Amino acid sequence: SLSDKLERAFKVLKGQGQVTEINIAETVKEIRRALLDADVSYKVAKQFTDTVKEKALGQNVINAVSPNQLMVKITHDELAKLMGGGMADINISGNPAVILISGLQGSGKTTFSGKLANYLKTKKGKSPLLVAGDVYRPAAIDQLHVLGEQVGVEVWSDKENKNPVDIAKQAVIHAKSKGHNVVIIDTAGRLAIDEQMMNEIEQVKKAVNPQETLFVVDSMTGQDAVNTAKAFNDKLDFDGVVLTKLDGDTRGGAALSIRTVVDKPIKFVGTGEKMEALDIFYPERMADRILGMGDVVSLVERAQEQYDEEEARKLQKKIAKNQFDFNDFMSQIAQIKKMGNVKDLMGMIPGVGKAMKDVDIDDDAFKGIEAIIQSMTPYERENPKSLTGSRRKRIAGGSGTSIQEVNRLIKQFDQTSKMMRMMGDKKKMAQMMKNMP
Ligand code: GDP
Ligand code: MG
Repeated sequence: SLSDKLERAFKVLKGQGQVTEINIAETVKEIRRALLDADVSYKVAKQFTDTVKEKALGQNVINAVSPNQLMVKITHDELAKLMGGGMADINISGNPAVILISGLQGSGKTTFSGKLANYLKTKKGKSPLLVAGDVYRPAAIDQLHVLGEQVGVEVWSDKENKNPVDIAKQAVIHAKSKGHNVVIIDTAGRLAIDEQMMNEIEQVKKAVNPQETLFVVDSMTGQDAVNTAKAFNDKLDFDGVVLTKLDGDTRGGAALSIRTVVDKPIKFVGTGEKMEALDIFYPERMADRILGMGDVVSLVERAQEQYDEEEARKLQKKIAKNQFDFNDFMSQIAQIKKMGNVKDLMGMIPGVGKAMKDVDIDDDAFKGIEAIIQSMTPYERENPKSLTGSRRKRIAGGSGTSIQEVNRLIKQFDQTSKMMRMMGDKKKMAQMMKNMP
């Protein structure tokens, strides 16, 4: 399965001390192969592994984390992104909102119809009507009645009528007259995709024009799930996917394949036979499940937080000892940049966002500063006092800036380090406050 293949890909890295272009090459190749085997398209798989590789090589090396663990974390985050990042809601606007349920026989359509009615009634305060659209199996109609009774939702059925289009239309009329604001239409499925079933559900769709057409698929059917999803999507252009039977031991690789092959969001997952066993789909959780390494992911997150704290502590010490230098200045800039786009950050401050709209702060705001510091020798970076006039001139030339810009940066640096020292020394701070006009 996808999970096993990914696990094997990470094993290749075990025992390595550092992330290098060479030692992650094999893992990256294995990840790509695992994705391709799971029916992810070549383009998507390549993009995926390129991103994983780039992120891995760009990461700071944290002592507490091995390259193997780092790769798991990065892959996890990218998997979540590939499955849509956030959750996708269903559309229940409209009065009544019509929801059409499609899928093969045994995929869990009738069970899901009951679960959805229960969810919309209890969590969304809706008044749903369930519609028995499986005209071929009388048992299926009874099944829906049993579920409707369980969740306290009315069920519309007509055992004499063998025309699902007709039943659906009449059900919508009935819903309107009875004040139901959601209509959930359960339909018949075959054991394999067949022409007649496809045409029938397409006609139902045309007749009632649903707000949501959902495709229900059994997560245990693996590769077949992808082919079925594709066939249904080609015919119905559905709005979302329901992945059932995730309470079994499947790792959920189908979620990734379906999402990337049909490019439609997964909206719900079924996790049992009970009416309450329905979850909203969260890509993060599915990524946990696919990798089956949730503990590694949280380990890396913790280590990354600790790393930042440790850096801050080191810096505090240096400031106290008056050893703050240009290297520290540079890593402070890196910290700020890690927090995201500067303009976005400003935009989050109430009142400031609008005022700053036209001010020109771009992501490159630090480029000039960084270029100047990079043009210093290691000795100069550690000894800011050594920056004489001739050295400043050389640095300006090397960084493609001017003497004035270099001078300005050095002045800024002096002010920053003076201020930081004072903040560390409460006595001096008090003195300064007293002397203020
Ligand atoms: P339909 O033919 O598509 O309407 O499928 P059904 O709703 O009748 O479900 C087929 C079988 O799968 C039934 O025995 C259900 O109880 C079972 N089932 C449906 N959803 C789930 C689920 O999320 N987990 C488990 N374990 N079983 C499910
Ligand atoms: Mg059914």
